[in-house]
Amino acid sequence: MYEIGHYVNGVHQPGASGRVADIMNPATGEVQGKVALASTAEVDDAIAKAAAAQPAWAAMNPQRRGRVMMAMVHLLNRDMDKLAEALSREHGKTLPDAKGDVQRGLEVIEYCIGAAEMLKGEYTDAAGPGIDMYSMRQSLGVTAAIAPFNFPAMIPLWQVGPSLACGNAVIMKPSERDPSVPMMLAELFLEAGLPEGILQVVNGDKEAVDALLDNEDIQAVGFVGSTPIARYIYSRATANDKRAQCFGGAKNHMIVMPDADMDQAADALVGAGFGAAGERCMAISVAVPVGDETADRLIEKLVPRIEKLRVAPYTGGNDVDYGPVVTAAAKENILRLINSGVDQGADLVVDNRDFKLQGYEDGYFVGPHLFDKVTTDMDIYKTEIFGPVLSTVRAQSYEEAIGMAMDHEYGNGVAIFTRDGDTARDFASRINVGMVGINVPIPVPLAYHTFGGWKKSAFGDLNQHGPDAFKFFTRTKTVTSRWPSGIREGGEFHFKAID
Ligand code: NAD
Repeated sequence: MYEIGHYVNGVHQPGASGRVADIMNPATGEVQGKVALASTAEVDDAIAKAAAAQPAWAAMNPQRRGRVMMAMVHLLNRDMDKLAEALSREHGKTLPDAKGDVQRGLEVIEYCIGAAEMLKGEYTDAAGPGIDMYSMRQSLGVTAAIAPFNFPAMIPLWQVGPSLACGNAVIMKPSERDPSVPMMLAELFLEAGLPEGILQVVNGDKEAVDALLDNEDIQAVGFVGSTPIARYIYSRATANDKRAQCFGGAKNHMIVMPDADMDQAADALVGAGFGAAGERCMAISVAVPVGDETADRLIEKLVPRIEKLRVAPYTGGNDVDYGPVVTAAAKENILRLINSGVDQGADLVVDNRDFKLQGYEDGYFVGPHLFDKVTTDMDIYKTEIFGPVLSTVRAQSYEEAIGMAMDHEYGNGVAIFTRDGDTARDFASRINVGMVGINVPIPVPLAYHTFGGWKKSAFGDLNQHGPDAFKFFTRTKTVTSRWPSGIREGGEFHFKAID
C-alpha cells in the first residue's frame, strides 16, 4: 500500500484536505494505494508558487530550456522499464503498450528540444519609411494540464512539454486512477534541470479541476478526457477568460473496401480494436465493410484472430495481447452496452460475456467481443464503449460508408483500407475527421505534426503538439518601430526626404 500526495516546488507533500481516492490494481480488483484529492486551497497554493517562479523561467533563453528537454529525453530512456512497470501496475496495459505510452510522450519532448526555432518570431524590414515591424511569441504565465487515465505518460508529456518549452509554468492534474507515473515524470523534469515550482502536480478530482478553472493566474487550460467533461471544462475555462483546448471522446470507423487486402485489414482491425483493451481514443471500434461479400470475408478472417487473443495481467508474459480495463465501473458499463447490442438486434459473433480469468476472478478483465449487423441507431454504435468490443456495420456502397463516418458525432480518427488511389484520395479530402489513415488503422501523427479531432472530439481551435502547441502556449506581440533617419539642424529634427 502506498500513498501519493502532491508535488509542489520540488517537494512531495501529503494531502491536507482529508479526502483520498483508492488506487486499484485492475488485474486483481484490490486497493493498492491511496491518492490525495486536493482542496481548492491546496490548488491555489501550488498555482501561487508556480506564478512566483515562472518569470525567471520565461526569461531563460529558449535554447537553455531546450537543454532541459534534451536531458529529459535521456532520463525517460534511462527509466523506461521503471516507468512502464508502474504504468502497467495501475493502468493494466501490457508492458510493450506501456513502453509505447512513454515513447510517444518522449517523442514530443524530443520535438521540444527545438523550441528556439519555434519561438523565434517574424520580422519585416522597412514596412514603411524608417519603420520595422516584428512579432514575438511570449509565454503565457501558468497553464493547467488535466489528463485522462488511458495514457498516463504520453498525454501529460504532450501537455506539459510544449508549455514548459514556451517558458510557462504548469500545474498538472493527472487522472486519479493512475497517478504514479505523472508524479515520476515531474521528478524526472526536476532532475533534468527544471527549476523548482515550474512544474507542480496536484492530484484530485472535480474540486481540484474547478479550482484550476477558476483561478485567475491560470492563463490556459489543456484537457484530454471524455466529451462531456471536455465540453464542461471548455465552457468554464473560456467563461473565465482563459484559452482552452479540450480533447474528448471518439468512435473511430475503419472502412474496408472490396479491393482491400483482407488479411491486412483483419490484422489491423484486431490490433486497433482490441489493443490496450480498446481503451484508446484512437482505437477502431467500428468496422464498415462495403458490400455483403466483403463483410462475410472480413468476419471470416476476424473471428479466428479474435478468438486467439490472450487476455491476462501484464505480468503474464510476452504473448499477452491486452489486460484488464481500468475500473469495475468501466467493466460493468462495457458489459451493459454489449447486452444492449444483443437486445437491440445485433449479431454477437464472438461472445465472451462470461469471461473469467482463473486466479484473477476479481480483476476487471473483459474478453473480446465482435458484433456483426450493427445498425446506426443502436447504442453500441452511437456510444463510445472504450472496451474490447468491435462493431461491424455493413454498408452497401462507398458513399454509404463515408456518409456514416461523416454523420457520427465524433471525429477523432478514421481509416480506409483499399488498393484504389482515387477512392483513398477522395476519402482523405472529404471526410470530416481530424486524423485519417489510409491502410493505417491508428493514424496517430508524429510529434512534429499535430494531433486533434473534429466535431465532438475536440473543443478549441489548436491541436496538441506540433507547431500548434507553440501557438497555443504563447501569445503574440507585434511591435511597430520607427527609427527615422533624420537630420538635426539648430536643435530642430527634420526627416530626411526619402525618394
Ligand atoms: P474523464 O473525462 O473521466 O477524466 C479526465 C479528467 O477529467 C481526469 O483528470 C478527471 O479527474 C477529470 N474529471 C472527471 N470528471 C470530472 C468532472 N465532473 N469535473 C471536472 N473534472 C473531471 O476521462 P477518462 O475516463 O480518464 O479518459 C477516457 C476518455 O478520454 C475517453 O473518452 C477517451 O476517448 C478520451 N481521450 C481522448 C483523447 C483525445 O486526444 N481526444 C486522448 C485520450 C483519451
